[in-house]
Amino acid sequence: MAQPVAVSKSIRKAAAVSEGLSEFSTEEIYREIIGRLGEDPNRAGLLATPGRVEKSMAYLTKGYAEDPAQILRGALFDEDYDEMVIVKDIEIFSLCEHHLLPFFGKVHVAYIPQGKVIGLSKIPRLVEVFARRLQVQERLTRQIADAIQEAIAPQGVGVVIEARHLCMMMRGIEKQHSSTVTSAMVGCFRQKETRSEFLELVRQPGTGGV
Ligand SMILES: [Zn+2]
Repeated sequence: MAQPVAVSKSIRKAAAVSEGLSEFSTEEIYREIIGRLGEDPNRAGLLATPGRVEKSMAYLTKGYAEDPAQILRGALFDEDYDEMVIVKDIEIFSLCEHHLLPFFGKVHVAYIPQGKVIGLSKIPRLVEVFARRLQVQERLTRQIADAIQEAIAPQGVGVVIEARHLCMMMRGIEKQHSSTVTSAMVGCFRQKETRSEFLELVRQPGTGGV
């Protein structure tokens, strides 16, 4: 006979709650939340809100339904180029997984090819797939770098994200104009010279994708 598995109280509670809630539509759940915030969900201005929130949340998390490898697959080309390829100032809007509040800013991506390059328009698409999920900025940075590394095994990849987090700004935890910078350096981007060249190029004012 199988031994009973110890399940913590909080996990049991979460399972019970989600079983109960599965009878309700997402729209009904948002209506309930609005009520619990102290509002009247039947007020004219709020009547259509649950449906709108459901749609906008589905859009903001559409990256779960997309496969980064598949996006890159059709856009890899053999090429002897071995200088740094850099796409900078890619706009991102994501949601912090701790507060479900937006963080937004810019991503800079660079790599040095080793026989293969990625179609330039696919890099912003790749960034978008990971950004449209519940995220922490550090993981988002790392996932972009890893996806490029896996797709074309370049000599190295560098990713820098500068972002501002509404969960900190709106709650007064951070000065309103400060931003958080994260970076992921793979392969030759771990070398001081390459990393400095990348960061120097990022700092130069540009007009968007190069
Ligand atoms: Zn947060």
